[in-house]
This record gives sequence, C-alpha cells and structure tokens, in this order.
Amino acid sequence: MEHALQEQDRRPWNRVYVLRLGHRPGRDKRITTHVALVARAFGANGFILADVVDEGLKESLLKIEKSWGRGISYFEMGVNPVEYINKWKRDGGEVIHLTMYGVHVDFVIDEIKRSNRDKLVIVGAEKVPRIIYDLAHYNVAIGYQPHSEVAALAIFLDKLFSGSELYLEYSGARLRIIPEYNGKKVVRCRH
Ligand code: SAM
Repeated sequence: MEHALQEQDRRPWNRVYVLRLGHRPGRDKRITTHVALVARAFGANGFILADVVDEGLKESLLKIEKSWGRGISYFEMGVNPVEYINKWKRDGGEVIHLTMYGVHVDFVIDEIKRSNRDKLVIVGAEKVPRIIYDLAHYNVAIGYQPHSEVAALAIFLDKLFSGSELYLEYSGARLRIIPEYNGKKVVRCRH
C-alpha cells in the first residue's frame, strides 16, 4: 500500500480514462467487461464505451464495484468517439491509442509518464478507423504481435503506473482479501 501511495503522489496527472471502441453487444460482452475490469483494477478512473449502450456491461461493472470498491468514478456509454477525443484534446488531455502498428511502448512510456496531461487510452475490437490513428497523440504498440485489447491495456497501465496499481484498494469495498499461500480468505469490511 505504501508503495502505491508514494507513486500516486508523484504523478503529475489526475485522470486516466479508457475509451473502448467497436463493441458489439452480445458478441463482445465478455471481452468488453474484461476491458472495463482491467481498466478499474489497473488504476484507470474512467471508462467510456463508444457508440453503443450496453446495460449488461454497466451492471457487471457495478456489481464488482459494489463488492470491491469504487475504482471507476466516471462511466459513460454511447458516446461519439471522434467528438469525445476532440473534446478531450481541447481540454488539454493526451490521447494514446493502443495498436500493434504503433511505436513500441518502451520508446514513449517515459515521455507519457512525465507529461502532466490527463490520459485517454483507446483500445479497439475489430478494425479501428483511420481517423483514430490520426487523432491520437501516440499510437502505441505493446509489442508487434497481434493479441488482445485486454492484454494490451493491462500492460500499458502497468507500465504507466510502474506496477504500483497492483497494490490498489478502493474505498467503499465490502470485501477484502487476506492473502494466503494456500486457501481463500475474504473478509467483510465494516463501514
Ligand atoms: N487488426 C486489428 C486492428 O486493426 O488493430 C487488431 C484488433 S485486436 C483483436 C483488438 C485491439 O487489441 C486493438 O484494436 C488494439 O487496441 C489491441 N491490441 C492487440 N494487439 C496489440 C498490440 N500488439 N499492441 C497494442 N494493442 C494491441
């Protein structure tokens, strides 16, 4: 915990939001839920679903937050991604699109960490429209092999937070894990 707090104090930015593109309700529900859970668990504080509204996704996230605390303080669905990105940039924020065609994360991560601008991290599903590449300040590759938006997001956030996000615990949690070498110990928190 101490490690996490110290890291947080040194951060020059406040918001890290994840924008999920290309979600197809039904077909992508599970993977988009995993994108949202990774965003939350790995330190992002906002999640935005582009173009569509999926109440099932919202319910899944709320259920987790009810038990494990409030990580995502901003949640929105059905937004026009181009308008959202343009507004984010007008407000002074930085836009990072994760794509295997971009520059290797190791070349840009220090610059991204040093800048005091809020971060909008974009992940796709199927083919991402060209305009997203053009609007992004950084098109960032998590290696040059095709894999998954869940893995790409987790690794990017881990590098952004230098691993400190793995110590996060969120306020309002009803449950808390007591780590054990063998077995599962979960306690209820009193508020
Ligand atoms: N061929 C697709 C494209 O046009 O980008 C790849 C789709 S992939 C199944 C879904 C998402 O995972 C991508 O939009 C990207 O955000 C992320 N992704 C997959 N591999 C990646 C990598 N090596 N680096 C960064 N992001 C990656």
